[in-house]
Amino acid sequence: MSFDSLCLMDELRRAIAAQGYTTPTPIQAQAIPAVLAGRDVLAGAQTGTGKTAAFTLPMLQRLCDGQTGRNRPRALVLTPTRELAAQVGESISTYGRHLPLRATIIFGGVGIQPQIDRLRRGVDIVVATPGRLLDHVGQRTLDLSGIEILVLDEADRMLDMGFIHDIRRILKLLPSARQSLLFSATYSDEIEQLANGLLRDPVTIAVARRNTAAERVSQLVHPVAKERKRELLSHLIHSQGWGQVLVFTRTKHGANRLTDQLIRDGIAAAAIHGNKSQTARTNALAGFKRGAVRALVATDIAARGLDIDQLPYVVNFELPNVPEDYVHRIGRTGRAGSAGAAFSLVSPEERKLLVDIERLLKREIPSASVDGFEAPAMPVATVPAPSAPSRRRSRGRPRTAATQQPRNATR
Ligand code: AMP
Repeated sequence: MSFDSLCLMDELRRAIAAQGYTTPTPIQAQAIPAVLAGRDVLAGAQTGTGKTAAFTLPMLQRLCDGQTGRNRPRALVLTPTRELAAQVGESISTYGRHLPLRATIIFGGVGIQPQIDRLRRGVDIVVATPGRLLDHVGQRTLDLSGIEILVLDEADRMLDMGFIHDIRRILKLLPSARQSLLFSATYSDEIEQLANGLLRDPVTIAVARRNTAAERVSQLVHPVAKERKRELLSHLIHSQGWGQVLVFTRTKHGANRLTDQLIRDGIAAAAIHGNKSQTARTNALAGFKRGAVRALVATDIAARGLDIDQLPYVVNFELPNVPEDYVHRIGRTGRAGSAGAAFSLVSPEERKLLVDIERLLKREIPSASVDGFEAPAMPVATVPAPSAPSRRRSRGRPRTAATQQPRNATR
């Protein structure tokens, strides 16, 4: 199948060709005709599947087909994070470069006035994170009554991040006669509920299975003492010759500290998290994509929606408290048809978190110690203290020594 059979306008086909794309990805092949036909769409698609072009291309075409509205935006794309908003904005300018449409990106953490100025000059498409969008509505600097197309991108992340109330408020501000597209990497009861209230007779495309880890990603646990994790990470980066690795820490402070330590170990590293300015985040990401930064150290929130092509390695420096975050983390690798690998450095204290993750995945993650970094056995009488309150932990009863031992502790 080629893009020629998708009835896209010439201006879009030229932009696609300039990107070097020859074949639509499966999500594009299914979503583009449905959106062009004016249908609502419920699509299950992870980052890396080409989902952005799957909604951007037909959205641009429909906006060109229709009347240009009064000075009001006609399409709204909601994203969970500013990084994702910026990436969608980039895609719109890339694919729409031969079209007269104007787009703007709206997110928090940066000055509001330039956004107001831009909105005043008139835009056709707004890409936004929910909170700042509502700020604009509150200040009457944005009128959503002309929206014809609504896209919810990474809807599951938006729900995870607690945006459901903001989304519901935004939906009330939109005309009911509109086209709505909902993209989500995972499918849950909450997504179904949101979709039911939002979509009319939707075309359903490859709905993602519930909480499945990216299947192409090979996963491995390295048991290691907590205080030797940093040393092990440097060792792996050096000895395996990893050129580009995304490292997850649980806290912003942890991300900063690890970044400093890696730099001291001679590894070009940068941190990306919510306390960094937008410029610092953009620079870190750009450096990473360019290859100038070898290790990008991120917290879960900051990493959401990062568009990094064919990322080969993800390291969980610390396991996340929420098992679903593990799935999202490793979903950053093994993308766009390439194989990926996810390594988790797991200290004895994190055993409980690992068990929860394996329960969610419904399988055990293979485990192997790295020579010289074997994890110590836990003292028999010690009860591991998971940093998250656990629903499943039996109350008051110390766990047996056997469950505290790292499994397969030697290679
Ligand atoms: P996405 O899933 O939207 O984040 O896209 C993942 C990556 O795939 C992006 O870097 C796109 O530029 C790229 N891409 C999108 N569509 C195609 C295509 N049809 N052929 C090749 N690459 C594509």
